Amino acid sequence: MRLGPWPRLNLVRNGVVAGLMAIVLCLGSVAAVSASLDFKLMAASAENLGEPHDIVLSPDGKRLMVADNENNRIAVLEAAAADLGLEPVRRQYLGLLGRRQIVSAELGGEARAPDGMVFENLRSVFSLLPEEHLWLANRAIQILEWDRDHQFCGRCRAVTENQHGERSKKCPRCGLSAYPRLSPAVIVLVERGDEILLARSPHFLPGVYSTLAGFVEPGETLEQTVAREIEEEVGVRVRDVRYFGSQPWPFPNSLMIGFRARHAGGDLVIDRTEIEDAGWFRADSLPKLPSSISIARALIEAFLAERR
Ligand SMILES: [Zn+2]
Repeated sequence: MRLGPWPRLNLVRNGVVAGLMAIVLCLGSVAAVSASLDFKLMAASAENLGEPHDIVLSPDGKRLMVADNENNRIAVLEAAAADLGLEPVRRQYLGLLGRRQIVSAELGGEARAPDGMVFENLRSVFSLLPEEHLWLANRAIQILEWDRDHQFCGRCRAVTENQHGERSKKCPRCGLSAYPRLSPAVIVLVERGDEILLARSPHFLPGVYSTLAGFVEPGETLEQTVAREIEEEVGVRVRDVRYFGSQPWPFPNSLMIGFRARHAGGDLVIDRTEIEDAGWFRADSLPKLPSSISIARALIEAFLAERR
């Protein structure tokens, strides 16, 4: 399976601690944490929101309302949606940005953006949004999607109820609980001496090659997914699989888990149903690479940095 392009690489520094994640920005390698972002993702609903600052999503839940100004593509409003005359059908607490309480607001029906604002696809504004807005918008879209898709029990069709103290919905009839779903996927840089393995999918921009990626299957370890995906897609075996970093990806609910690995044997045999071309590349003869905000690019840059 091919995935991409990727949003900016983030690493969870301390893991999940009491439902609170500290996200730190890292570009280039796991050792190069360059900045700490001033937001905290909160798992539980806040009882008292005070004056919330909303991130507004379009009625289809996929587009973000941003200022209609190319130099100021903010997504977090300095107000609640209601202050702009909007009537959200669903809202979800997201966390803190500095001292501000951030809440997502999904519009319904034929709702339009007010004057001065416009709905944009998250992909198209990824590199334009302030870093904190980007990750909060990412979170908003995934949580709203879960909220919208689990209004009814998937087993018995009863109306679900939000649970207090955790982000879940429970069926009052049969007891089934639904949590926001993440679909983990591995992304791997395979190295063979001074060469790295890169491939391109037919839907990549012309000339761009990237690292291989694939979704984790139920029952698999991440290391098994790495081995299986690489062998399925290009026919080679890998060894020395090492964790690199991770990156959330909201289309629709992936978490990219990056690894580096070494070639252990096998010649390239390309699965043409998944990828168009693949090859071994030296540092001085690389093809066009994916965006600098991608974990794929960070994996490649880490390899290059070791050879400078
Ligand atoms: Zn049920």
